Amino acid sequence: MPPPTTEPLVEMRGVNKYFGELHVLKDIDLTVHRGEVVVVIGPSGSGKSTLCRTINRLETISSGEIVVDGTPLPEEGKALARLRADVGMVFQSFNLFAHKTVLDNVTLGPIKVKGLKTKEAKDLAMDLLERVGVANQAGKLPAQLSGGQQQRVAIARSLAMQPKVMLFDEPTSALDPEMINEVLDVMTSLARDGMTMVVVTHEMGFARKAGDRVVFMDAGEIVEEKTPEEFFTHAETERAKDFLGKIL
Ligand code: ADP
Ligand code: MG
Repeated sequence: MPPPTTEPLVEMRGVNKYFGELHVLKDIDLTVHRGEVVVVIGPSGSGKSTLCRTINRLETISSGEIVVDGTPLPEEGKALARLRADVGMVFQSFNLFAHKTVLDNVTLGPIKVKGLKTKEAKDLAMDLLERVGVANQAGKLPAQLSGGQQQRVAIARSLAMQPKVMLFDEPTSALDPEMINEVLDVMTSLARDGMTMVVVTHEMGFARKAGDRVVFMDAGEIVEEKTPEEFFTHAETERAKDFLGKIL
Protein backbone atom coordinates (compact mmCIF):
# COMPACT_ATOMS: atom_id res chain seq x y z
CA MET A 1 0.00 0.00 0.00
CA PRO A 2 1.31 3.48 -0.78
CA PRO A 3 1.72 5.54 2.40
CA PRO A 4 -0.89 8.27 2.85
CA THR A 5 0.16 11.89 2.47
CA THR A 6 -0.02 14.49 5.25
CA GLU A 7 -2.33 16.63 3.14
CA PRO A 8 -5.84 16.93 4.65
CA LEU A 9 -8.58 16.01 2.20
CA VAL A 10 -11.60 15.69 4.48
CA GLU A 11 -11.64 17.72 7.68
CA MET A 12 -14.42 17.45 10.24
CA ARG A 13 -14.09 19.92 13.09
CA GLY A 14 -16.34 19.94 16.12
CA VAL A 15 -19.15 18.29 14.19
CA ASN A 16 -22.40 17.69 16.04
CA LYS A 17 -25.53 16.14 14.65
CA TYR A 18 -28.91 15.84 16.32
CA PHE A 19 -31.98 14.00 15.12
CA GLY A 20 -34.52 15.83 17.26
CA GLU A 21 -33.35 15.22 20.82
CA LEU A 22 -31.03 12.42 19.81
CA HIS A 23 -27.36 13.50 19.80
CA VAL A 24 -25.96 11.25 17.08
CA LEU A 25 -22.54 12.80 16.37
CA LYS A 26 -20.76 14.34 19.35
CA ASP A 27 -17.95 16.80 18.68
CA ILE A 28 -16.39 14.78 15.91
CA ASP A 29 -12.89 15.83 14.88
CA LEU A 30 -11.58 13.73 12.06
CA THR A 31 -9.08 14.45 9.33
CA VAL A 32 -8.68 12.10 6.39
CA HIS A 33 -5.49 12.70 4.42
CA ARG A 34 -5.11 12.34 0.70
CA GLY A 35 -4.38 8.70 -0.08
CA GLU A 36 -5.42 7.51 3.37
CA VAL A 37 -7.78 4.61 4.07
CA VAL A 38 -9.72 5.14 7.29
CA VAL A 39 -11.76 2.19 8.54
CA VAL A 40 -14.66 3.15 10.79
CA ILE A 41 -15.96 0.48 13.11
CA GLY A 42 -18.35 0.42 16.03
CA PRO A 43 -21.62 -0.99 17.30
CA SER A 44 -24.89 -0.59 15.47
CA GLY A 45 -26.39 2.84 16.11
CA SER A 46 -23.05 4.44 17.00
CA GLY A 47 -23.32 7.00 14.17
CA LYS A 48 -21.10 5.48 11.46
CA SER A 49 -23.61 5.88 8.63
CA THR A 50 -24.53 9.38 9.75
CA LEU A 51 -20.85 10.32 9.79
CA CYS A 52 -20.47 9.17 6.17
CA ARG A 53 -23.69 10.83 5.10
CA THR A 54 -22.62 14.20 6.51
CA ILE A 55 -19.41 14.11 4.45
CA ASN A 56 -21.33 14.15 1.17
CA ARG A 57 -24.11 16.16 2.71
CA LEU A 58 -26.86 13.61 2.49
CA GLU A 59 -27.33 14.84 6.06
CA THR A 60 -26.89 18.40 7.29
CA ILE A 61 -24.89 18.97 10.46
CA SER A 62 -26.18 20.78 13.54
CA SER A 63 -22.87 22.51 14.30
CA GLY A 64 -19.20 22.40 13.41
CA GLU A 65 -17.51 22.39 10.07
CA ILE A 66 -16.71 19.94 7.27
CA VAL A 67 -14.16 20.88 4.64
CA VAL A 68 -13.45 18.75 1.56
CA ASP A 69 -10.26 19.54 -0.33
CA GLY A 70 -10.14 23.03 1.12
CA THR A 71 -13.78 23.92 0.45
CA PRO A 72 -16.46 24.03 3.18
CA LEU A 73 -19.47 21.87 2.30
CA PRO A 74 -21.87 23.84 0.13
CA GLU A 75 -25.51 24.25 1.09
CA GLU A 76 -27.16 23.61 -2.27
CA GLY A 77 -27.15 24.14 -6.00
CA LYS A 78 -24.33 23.54 -8.46
CA ALA A 79 -21.67 23.54 -5.77
CA LEU A 80 -23.47 20.72 -4.01
CA ALA A 81 -23.65 18.67 -7.22
CA ARG A 82 -19.90 19.19 -7.65
CA LEU A 83 -19.26 18.09 -4.08
CA ARG A 84 -21.32 14.96 -4.64
CA ALA A 85 -19.12 14.20 -7.65
CA ASP A 86 -15.99 14.70 -5.52
CA VAL A 87 -17.27 12.49 -2.70
CA GLY A 88 -18.34 9.08 -4.00
CA MET A 89 -20.49 6.86 -1.83
CA VAL A 90 -21.23 3.15 -1.93
CA PHE A 91 -23.99 1.83 0.30
CA GLN A 92 -24.91 -1.50 1.77
CA SER A 93 -27.80 -1.79 -0.70
CA PHE A 94 -26.44 -1.29 -4.17
CA ASN A 95 -28.83 1.48 -5.22
CA LEU A 96 -28.44 0.87 -8.95
CA PHE A 97 -31.11 2.14 -11.32
CA ALA A 98 -33.15 -1.02 -11.81
CA HIS A 99 -34.47 -0.17 -15.26
CA LYS A 100 -31.15 0.86 -16.76
CA THR A 101 -28.40 -1.39 -18.03
CA VAL A 102 -25.17 -1.76 -16.15
CA LEU A 103 -23.46 0.43 -18.74
CA ASP A 104 -26.14 3.15 -18.51
CA ASN A 105 -25.88 3.08 -14.72
CA VAL A 106 -22.22 4.03 -15.04
CA THR A 107 -22.48 6.56 -17.91
CA LEU A 108 -25.45 8.52 -16.57
CA GLY A 109 -23.61 10.62 -13.97
CA PRO A 110 -20.66 11.54 -16.20
CA ILE A 111 -23.03 12.60 -18.99
CA LYS A 112 -25.50 14.52 -16.82
CA VAL A 113 -23.24 16.02 -14.19
CA LYS A 114 -19.82 16.14 -15.82
CA GLY A 115 -21.01 16.91 -19.34
CA LEU A 116 -19.14 14.05 -21.02
CA LYS A 117 -20.11 13.07 -24.55
CA THR A 118 -21.84 9.69 -24.87
CA LYS A 119 -18.80 8.10 -26.50
CA GLU A 120 -16.39 9.41 -23.85
CA ALA A 121 -18.70 8.30 -21.07
CA LYS A 122 -19.00 4.82 -22.60
CA ASP A 123 -15.25 4.43 -22.96
CA LEU A 124 -14.74 5.54 -19.38
CA ALA A 125 -17.51 3.24 -18.13
CA MET A 126 -16.15 0.21 -19.99
CA ASP A 127 -12.67 0.84 -18.55
CA LEU A 128 -14.11 0.99 -15.06
CA LEU A 129 -16.34 -2.05 -15.53
CA GLU A 130 -13.23 -3.87 -16.73
CA ARG A 131 -11.36 -2.72 -13.65
CA VAL A 132 -14.02 -4.11 -11.30
CA GLY A 133 -14.33 -7.29 -13.36
CA VAL A 134 -17.85 -7.00 -14.79
CA ALA A 135 -17.27 -5.62 -18.30
CA ASN A 136 -18.95 -8.71 -19.75
CA GLN A 137 -22.19 -7.76 -17.94
CA ALA A 138 -22.43 -4.25 -19.40
CA GLY A 139 -25.64 -4.86 -21.38
CA LYS A 140 -27.56 -6.54 -18.58
CA LEU A 141 -29.99 -5.11 -16.06
CA PRO A 142 -28.86 -5.00 -12.42
CA ALA A 143 -31.31 -7.72 -11.35
CA GLN A 144 -29.60 -10.15 -13.72
CA LEU A 145 -26.35 -9.81 -11.77
CA SER A 146 -25.29 -11.35 -8.47
CA GLY A 147 -25.11 -9.12 -5.41
CA GLY A 148 -21.33 -9.04 -5.60
CA GLN A 149 -21.43 -8.02 -9.25
CA GLN A 150 -24.02 -5.33 -8.52
CA GLN A 151 -21.89 -3.89 -5.75
CA ARG A 152 -18.89 -3.80 -8.10
CA VAL A 153 -21.02 -1.92 -10.65
CA ALA A 154 -21.98 0.52 -7.88
CA ILE A 155 -18.28 1.07 -7.20
CA ALA A 156 -17.61 1.62 -10.92
CA ARG A 157 -20.50 4.06 -11.06
CA SER A 158 -19.03 6.10 -8.21
CA LEU A 159 -15.55 6.01 -9.73
CA ALA A 160 -16.93 7.30 -13.03
CA MET A 161 -17.45 10.66 -11.36
CA GLN A 162 -13.73 10.76 -10.61
CA PRO A 163 -14.20 11.38 -6.91
CA LYS A 164 -11.46 12.70 -4.65
CA VAL A 165 -12.62 10.46 -1.83
CA MET A 166 -14.79 7.35 -1.69
CA LEU A 167 -17.08 6.54 1.22
CA PHE A 168 -18.14 2.93 1.72
CA ASP A 169 -20.92 2.23 4.21
CA GLU A 170 -20.90 -1.49 5.04
CA PRO A 171 -20.51 -2.37 1.36
CA THR A 172 -20.39 -6.13 1.96
CA SER A 173 -22.89 -6.62 4.75
CA ALA A 174 -25.81 -7.39 2.41
CA LEU A 175 -23.81 -9.92 0.40
CA ASP A 176 -23.71 -13.69 0.53
CA PRO A 177 -20.43 -14.78 2.13
CA GLU A 178 -18.93 -16.10 -1.09
CA MET A 179 -19.28 -12.68 -2.72
CA ILE A 180 -17.72 -10.61 0.00
CA ASN A 181 -14.15 -11.10 -1.12
CA GLU A 182 -14.70 -10.11 -4.72
CA VAL A 183 -15.92 -6.72 -3.49
CA LEU A 184 -13.20 -6.35 -0.85
CA ASP A 185 -10.59 -7.21 -3.49
CA VAL A 186 -11.79 -4.34 -5.68
CA MET A 187 -11.65 -2.01 -2.67
CA THR A 188 -8.17 -3.23 -1.77
CA SER A 189 -6.97 -2.56 -5.29
CA LEU A 190 -8.44 0.95 -5.14
CA ALA A 191 -6.58 1.53 -1.89
CA ARG A 192 -3.40 0.26 -3.50
CA ASP A 193 -3.89 2.76 -6.33
CA GLY A 194 -3.89 5.55 -3.75
CA MET A 195 -7.62 6.32 -3.50
CA THR A 196 -8.63 8.20 -0.36
CA MET A 197 -11.26 6.10 1.38
CA VAL A 198 -13.51 6.08 4.42
CA VAL A 199 -14.79 2.55 4.92
CA VAL A 200 -17.39 1.47 7.45
CA THR A 201 -16.85 -2.26 7.81
CA HIS A 202 -16.27 -4.99 10.32
CA GLU A 203 -14.11 -6.93 7.89
CA MET A 204 -10.90 -7.23 9.89
CA GLY A 205 -8.98 -8.76 7.00
CA PHE A 206 -9.69 -5.74 4.85
CA ALA A 207 -8.90 -3.32 7.70
CA ARG A 208 -5.55 -5.02 8.29
CA LYS A 209 -4.63 -5.28 4.62
CA ALA A 210 -5.82 -1.93 3.32
CA GLY A 211 -6.48 0.30 6.33
CA ASP A 212 -4.07 2.99 7.46
CA ARG A 213 -6.12 3.83 10.53
CA VAL A 214 -9.06 2.41 12.45
CA VAL A 215 -11.53 4.84 13.99
CA PHE A 216 -13.70 3.21 16.64
CA MET A 217 -17.04 4.91 17.29
CA ASP A 218 -19.46 4.34 20.10
CA ALA A 219 -22.58 6.35 21.00
CA GLY A 220 -21.74 9.14 18.56
CA GLU A 221 -18.14 9.63 19.69
CA ILE A 222 -14.78 8.71 18.31
CA VAL A 223 -13.48 6.63 21.19
CA GLU A 224 -10.19 5.31 19.78
CA GLU A 225 -8.00 5.82 16.73
CA LYS A 226 -5.14 3.48 15.99
CA THR A 227 -3.41 1.56 13.24
CA PRO A 228 -5.43 -1.59 12.46
CA GLU A 229 -2.76 -3.84 13.97
CA GLU A 230 -2.68 -1.83 17.21
CA PHE A 231 -6.44 -1.62 17.43
CA PHE A 232 -7.12 -5.30 16.96
CA THR A 233 -4.37 -6.41 19.32
CA HIS A 234 -4.14 -3.56 21.86
CA ALA A 235 -7.45 -1.72 22.08
CA GLU A 236 -7.27 0.48 25.17
CA THR A 237 -10.80 1.40 26.13
CA GLU A 238 -13.31 -0.93 27.72
CA ARG A 239 -15.83 0.04 25.06
CA ALA A 240 -13.53 -1.05 22.24
CA LYS A 241 -12.47 -4.25 24.02
CA ASP A 242 -16.08 -5.08 24.69
CA PHE A 243 -17.00 -4.52 21.03
CA LEU A 244 -14.06 -6.56 19.74
CA GLY A 245 -15.00 -9.36 22.12
CA LYS A 246 -18.36 -9.56 20.38
CA ILE A 247 -17.19 -9.52 16.76
CA LEU A 248 -13.89 -11.42 16.81
P1 ADP B 1 -24.69 3.16 12.57
O1 ADP B 1 -24.47 3.37 11.11
O2 ADP B 1 -23.43 3.21 13.37
O3 ADP B 1 -25.47 1.92 12.86
P2 ADP B 1 -26.46 5.44 12.33
O4 ADP B 1 -25.61 6.59 11.93
O5 ADP B 1 -27.27 4.79 11.28
O6 ADP B 1 -25.56 4.38 13.12
O7 ADP B 1 -27.45 5.91 13.45
C1 ADP B 1 -27.04 6.60 14.61
C2 ADP B 1 -28.26 6.93 15.44
O8 ADP B 1 -29.06 7.88 14.75
C3 ADP B 1 -29.16 5.74 15.72
O9 ADP B 1 -29.68 5.89 17.03
C4 ADP B 1 -30.26 5.88 14.71
O10 ADP B 1 -31.45 5.31 15.14
C5 ADP B 1 -30.38 7.39 14.58
N1 ADP B 1 -30.82 7.85 13.24
C6 ADP B 1 -30.20 7.60 12.07
N2 ADP B 1 -30.85 8.18 11.05
C7 ADP B 1 -31.91 8.83 11.59
C8 ADP B 1 -32.96 9.64 11.06
N3 ADP B 1 -33.04 9.93 9.76
N4 ADP B 1 -33.88 10.12 11.93
C9 ADP B 1 -33.80 9.86 13.25
N5 ADP B 1 -32.84 9.12 13.82
C10 ADP B 1 -31.89 8.60 13.00
MG1 MG C 1 -24.91 2.14 9.50
